[in-house]
Amino acid sequence: MDGIVIIGAGEAGTRAAFALREAGFAGSVTLAGTEPHLPYERPPLSKPLNGAVQMKPICGAAALQAAGIDYLQGVSALRLDPAARSVALSDGRRLAYDKLLLATGARPRRLTCPGAERALDFRTYADAAAIFSRAESGKGVAIIGGGLIGMELAAVLRGKGITVSVIEAAPKPLGRAVPPRFATKLHARHQQEGVAFHLGQGIAEITDNAVRLADGSAVPADVVVAAIGVLPDVGLAEAAGLATGNGILTDAFLRTSDPAIFAAGDCAAVAQPGGGHVRFESWRNARNQAETAARNMAGGKEAFAAIPWFWTDQYDLGLQVAGLPQLDHQSVTRQLDGGELEFYLDGGRLVAAAGLGLGNALAKDIKLAEMLIAAGIGPDPAVLADPGANLKALLKSARAA
Ligand SMILES: Cc1cc2nc3c(=O)[nH]c(=O)nc-3n(C[C@H](O)[C@H](O)[C@H](O)COP(=O)(O)OP(=O)(O)OC[C@H]3O[C@@H](n4cnc5c(N)ncnc54)[C@H](O)[C@@H]3O)c2cc1C
Repeated sequence: MDGIVIIGAGEAGTRAAFALREAGFAGSVTLAGTEPHLPYERPPLSKPLNGAVQMKPICGAAALQAAGIDYLQGVSALRLDPAARSVALSDGRRLAYDKLLLATGARPRRLTCPGAERALDFRTYADAAAIFSRAESGKGVAIIGGGLIGMELAAVLRGKGITVSVIEAAPKPLGRAVPPRFATKLHARHQQEGVAFHLGQGIAEITDNAVRLADGSAVPADVVVAAIGVLPDVGLAEAAGLATGNGILTDAFLRTSDPAIFAAGDCAAVAQPGGGHVRFESWRNARNQAETAARNMAGGKEAFAAIPWFWTDQYDLGLQVAGLPQLDHQSVTRQLDGGELEFYLDGGRLVAAAGLGLGNALAKDIKLAEMLIAAGIGPDPAVLADPGANLKALLKSARAA
């Protein structure tokens, strides 16, 4: 019995290691991770407490030991040999496995313009420490990319009194994952807070003290951060001959094209019931997929079917999105004291919901909305819009029906 080897000690890899034990797996579990730390959470990196970067461990060394997880800290997997069921590690060892989980995550997409090497990435604790140690009051920071990570960073830096410019190729920030209503509101809040936006702009060059835009103008910057998205880390899988696309391709059970190898988290593109593969980049998805993959590696046969969910915190606002809102969905807005909710219906069926409010004010409503989505109901839009209509009661009657 060679046991289970997990490559990548981020959210997905670490959660999978513990979930294997929770599923009753008694064989050996080895967790190998490139980074020189105990496993840690990434979301707190862009939500520092009192301006200081947070290293929030996913677990301590004692918990790993108690669960009998052999954690290889600072050790990379260099090569997979699916035929021999073995993996070569950077410490010179070769590990044999019965089953292997690829939880290699994603790495930042790189700029290609002249001076691109001057831009800092924002993915790891080391990246966050580098950004926050260089970004001090009185300095100007240019963030290239107005997605979730770039905008969270902008909010944190404005909170420290730092001059912030956001440069975005699209005509609006937050266009990819955030419903337009809330993207507009968050954009307006950033403008109120003094963030300077340069939208619809390509980058010509990054110099020592500025970002030169395609239209010839210059954005002064002492520090430049590139937040232009991530690419799934598929290198090991590709070299081993596994099927890849926008991620490591898996079936609904999170098995790759080699039935002894599974994938989960930001690196995995999972087969969908209607065809095609979908890859998510969110904290909860990484955990949920890790748990499903672990149970399946331990002998289960469970299709992955969680409703996508993510959150972002910017200034004192919290946004949560459950499901996948699309522009062609019917949207219904509900105004609440602490913010507002938007529900999305497809052919009359509730398929997604989002809420923007102060802090965590709408967390309960989004949780209920998630349960309503899972129940597959087709509610009356007037009821969804009515702040007096109780979502819990709606859920109860949906379940009773
Ligand atoms: C700054 C920041 C803020 C975020 N905020 C939010 C948020 O508010 N809400 C939200 O839902 N999501 C957020 N996310 C996204 C979320 O953190 C990720 O979706 C999640 O961490 C993905 O987990 P993962 O384990 O799949 O990948 P990762 O966290 O990328 O972990 C993969 C690990 O595998 C290691 N690895 C790769 N190749 C090898 C190899 N060959 N050998 C050994 N180890 C290897 C990597 O070094 C890495 O440590 C944020 C991400 C960042 C960077």
